[in-house]
Amino acid sequence: MFEPKALVPSLQRLLAALRRLPGVGPKSAQRIGYHILRSPREEAVELARTIVTLKDRVGECHICGNVAERGEGEKALICPICADPQRDQARLMIVEEPYNVEAFSKTGVYGGLYHVLGGLFDPLAGIGAVELGLDSLARRVAEGSFREVILATSPTTAGEATASYLHELLKPYGVTLTRIAVGLAPGADVDYADEVSLRLALEGRREMA
Ligand SMILES: [Zn+2]
Repeated sequence: MFEPKALVPSLQRLLAALRRLPGVGPKSAQRIGYHILRSPREEAVELARTIVTLKDRVGECHICGNVAERGEGEKALICPICADPQRDQARLMIVEEPYNVEAFSKTGVYGGLYHVLGGLFDPLAGIGAVELGLDSLARRVAEGSFREVILATSPTTAGEATASYLHELLKPYGVTLTRIAVGLAPGADVDYADEVSLRLALEGRREMA
């Protein structure tokens, strides 16, 4: 354990910043911090620049909420999936977070479009329909040419509550609503499922009554 007072201010600031990262405790912060301190200047500058570039160029796709990068001279943020005309425009999969898009894409069995909620229903934390931008999702489904909408939130309590809300919300639009099913144990999280489990969950999806 390092003694903060024994550190020079710049190193102290770096270690404090590293400790704010998820999964980084005091020991890891120390290891990473001293590694950066000892590494060649160009390497450290490259790391810092990469982070700045990410923050400047990357944001939410204005269509689906996935991660998108602004090209030179482009104003609107559109992700690679929404920009790809080869994708199956008749299928829409609703997921919690952008990294779920990546995980479902890796299964190789889904070629449709996505919609990223950015969270799940959580009344205690004040997260509801407004916070999840469900009016824009409903508009997208109303205006789109989707035949099937797949509800791919985790089979946890919050994931199920969100899925049943979405079911009620989207029912009037005449699309087939399916729910990912087998492969994921009840209460298991989509975030931690492996590719095979996600593929099985997707292939075993069932139409919601
Ligand atoms: Zn998109």
